[in-house]
Amino acid sequence: MTGTVTNWAGNITYAAKELHRPRSIDALRSLVADGTHVRVLGSGHSFNEIAEPGADGVLLSLAALPAEVDVDTAARTVRVGGGVRYAELARVVHEHGLALHNMASLPHISVAGSVATGTHGSGVANGSLASAVREVELITADGSSVRIGRGDGRFDGAVTSLGALGVVTALTLDLEPDYEVEQYVFTELPLEGPDFDTVAASAYSVSLFTDWRAPGFRQVWLKRRTDRPLPDFPWATPATEALHPVPGMPAVNCTEQFGVPGPWHERLPHFRADFTPSSGAELQSEYLLPRPYALDALRALDAIRATVAPVLQTCEVRTVAADAQWLSPAYGRDTVAVHFTWVEDTAAVLPVVRRVEEVLEAFDARPHWGKVFTVPAAALRGRYPRIGDFTALAAELDPAGKFRNAFVRDALGLR
Ligand SMILES: Cc1cc2nc3c(=O)[nH]c(=O)nc-3n(C[C@H](O)[C@H](O)[C@H](O)COP(=O)(O)OP(=O)(O)OC[C@H]3O[C@@H](n4cnc5c(N)ncnc54)[C@H](O)[C@@H]3O)c2cc1C
Repeated sequence: MTGTVTNWAGNITYAAKELHRPRSIDALRSLVADGTHVRVLGSGHSFNEIAEPGADGVLLSLAALPAEVDVDTAARTVRVGGGVRYAELARVVHEHGLALHNMASLPHISVAGSVATGTHGSGVANGSLASAVREVELITADGSSVRIGRGDGRFDGAVTSLGALGVVTALTLDLEPDYEVEQYVFTELPLEGPDFDTVAASAYSVSLFTDWRAPGFRQVWLKRRTDRPLPDFPWATPATEALHPVPGMPAVNCTEQFGVPGPWHERLPHFRADFTPSSGAELQSEYLLPRPYALDALRALDAIRATVAPVLQTCEVRTVAADAQWLSPAYGRDTVAVHFTWVEDTAAVLPVVRRVEEVLEAFDARPHWGKVFTVPAAALRGRYPRIGDFTALAAELDPAGKFRNAFVRDALGLR
């Protein structure tokens, strides 16, 4: 490649021999058909080598394709192109008086790349972003197109697919009527005391933040839909100034707080589309475990907070509703997701990641596919009961393994 290509965080430099930015679906089809090892690079917000095709492979960016966002107001669906980011999708959907059910902490990420890794927001009744998908359009290894929709026996393997089945050229998503959200921030919530499920269910979307420098949570972010009751939250103190989840960072990067109502897409993410999300100089890890384990898992982390805190910027606890996607970290179980924004120092962070994984092993924790983890492949595979169905689907759609990179082969045990 001329020049180096890195992920958003800069901790991964792709070894791929070429990066192509096709301007048409026909050009994309030819590149796929001609390639030996092919991976798509979405918006590059993953923190590991999930997108790396290897030194003899090619990376394809879909960012130069026409940015299709076609809303069907009668059907309440949207068909979105494979390179489009949530910020652009949300703007168009909102203009049509419609809404997505949820968003991640930032709108900068591509839709196809997000659903490929099981990206999620928060809310006890909110499934991952992939749960809104009703149809996937793929270009498979020989350059031909395949559509897989809900009701097709392959569908539950085809959305959260780690990019291992082909190039996603479009997704069709369910929408709902437009709604408004108010965001309230509270400070200092004790770990012991209020029941975790009650706290997590106290608003449409709830995020708990801690730096683990002291017990309990430094911040609670409640996102209330204005068409639902105003939550009573007696366990913590309302914030007196706008806050960023990373202590010391400017809150100007964050979406509006203090209960100012606004459209769903300007409140559900924590970070504004036109500002740097999160800290910008960081690594991330995240573990998704059955929700009934939440309090015990948080107590176990509290017991190692002296190890965690020195390399941590912030830790966020969210919930995700169970879904049916075979490779989704929320597959088959209502989930609590424990996220870590680490300092930008791989050598210092990795031993702590391993320690966190040791502690969370007892809780059947599934790592986020797009973040830093070291869980051994054999253990990982044991945590996904439908992995055999996925590998059979990958063998059917990509018999020669054109889209299988080292990350996927290792994680899924594929040749
Ligand atoms: C600041 C920050 C905040 C984050 N917040 C959240 C959060 O709130 N919740 C959460 O769950 N995660 C979060 N993440 C993680 C992020 O959502 C995932 O890493 C997601 O996969 C990023 O999407 P992307 O387009 O950048 O994917 P990439 O990293 O570019 O790619 C991810 C995977 O998708 C594949 N892929 C991408 N596009 C296609 C396509 N068109 N066809 C086939 N395969 C494709 C790639 O090959 C790769 O395997 C965050 C990351 C950052 C950097």
